[in-house]
Amino acid sequence: MKKIILSMLLILFSFSVNAISFKTERIEKEYRKLETKNKTLTNVLGKIDALYTISGRTSLYITEVFRTKKEQKDIYGNNKKVSPHELWDAVDIRTNDLSVEQVKILKKDITDLFNIFGNNIYKITAIYHDVGLGPHIHIQFRRKK
Ligand SMILES: [Zn+2]
Repeated sequence: MKKIILSMLLILFSFSVNAISFKTERIEKEYRKLETKNKTLTNVLGKIDALYTISGRTSLYITEVFRTKKEQKDIYGNNKKVSPHELWDAVDIRTNDLSVEQVKILKKDITDLFNIFGNNIYKITAIYHDVGLGPHIHIQFRRKK
């Protein structure tokens, strides 16, 4: 019941608010494109956006959406691992303006919200880490078919 009320409230608010901001114009464009690549991911991020705007908590600063093969190689070297960013399955949110406690809450909120909207093919939805470009929460999601 609580889940239904929360999702209805968020659907209502997600049309009117926009607390998400972007590091670059390229990232903003990619975020718009994400809607056609991974609907659930954009949908849930819109609701997180709404949740954070309503509650007056931190704004969501997106630092990465899509990553090319070359960019992946520049970070990880010749490691053959494919990043969820290369598949339009991930978005990064900057955390260096947040306290340890705020990061913990944000991570939990994100995971809870994604759990409402479907089964994730990735085991972990939100990862807090730094791969050399600054600490951030990496959110990865693709709905199980
Ligand atoms: Zn990431």
